[in-house]
Amino acid sequence: MSNDLPVWIQELVDEGRIDEAKAAKMAKLDSKKSKNKTEEELLEKYPHAVAGSHGFDEAANKFYMNVACQTDGCDELRRTYTSDLFQIRHCDDHRKEARKLRKEQERKEYEAFKREREDRDEG
Ligand SMILES: [Zn+2]
Repeated sequence: MSNDLPVWIQELVDEGRIDEAKAAKMAKLDSKKSKNKTEEELLEKYPHAVAGSHGFDEAANKFYMNVACQTDGCDELRRTYTSDLFQIRHCDDHRKEARKLRKEQERKEYEAFKREREDRDEG
């Protein structure tokens, strides 16, 4: 198997600092993944993200963006890692509310589906 580890990571391995080497490798892979997308690309895919808020969190080694809460009348912004943009659309307060509404909606759809099927079976 070919070895494509960067020299500095290979050095950690050679010195027996395996845990450090693993962490460094994971961080590198992670940053590579999120670096693939520019802010423009992210905005195109996630219109609820806020233009100009793209940044890099050194501590977490991840990119982040702000998300504008999608609840009507709410101006809250929520900072989230770009890898979570697909699932974060609300501020903390409205996130729970949105989840509750979605569950209710799903339940209603299921009830309607069940009723329809029962009607059909009876008829
Ligand atoms: Zn909100």
